[in-house]
Amino acid sequence: MPPFTRPASERGHPSEHARLLRCVLGIRERSARAVPWEPDTVGIPADRSSSALSRINDVAFYATAREEVSALAGVCVDLLHLHAPDEGDEHGEHRCEGCRQSWPCPTFAELCRLLA
Ligand SMILES: [Zn+2]
Repeated sequence: MPPFTRPASERGHPSEHARLLRCVLGIRERSARAVPWEPDTVGIPADRSSSALSRINDVAFYATAREEVSALAGVCVDLLHLHAPDEGDEHGEHRCEGCRQSWPCPTFAELCRLLA
């Protein structure tokens, strides 16, 4: 099961925000610690296409993947810090601290959907 996959019924619970934040922090940390890819470090994966352009695309992807994954995880971390549930009112209803909409706000719901 992928790390983000959870039943839809759990996606709005405030604890889901903490879990998703832990996941993207872990991705960002692992990508930051990973050895940058170079042909001499881990080699070039087997060619799956006879197209030179496709091969160039693959190499360009591997060469930038570490930095791009780290940057995308950083964007997710920032969005999750902005869109977090508040402490809740006396009825246990939460609002987003960033956009003040009812929790889960549309931004958090979309992050859950995209990362599932
Ligand atoms: Zn929000």
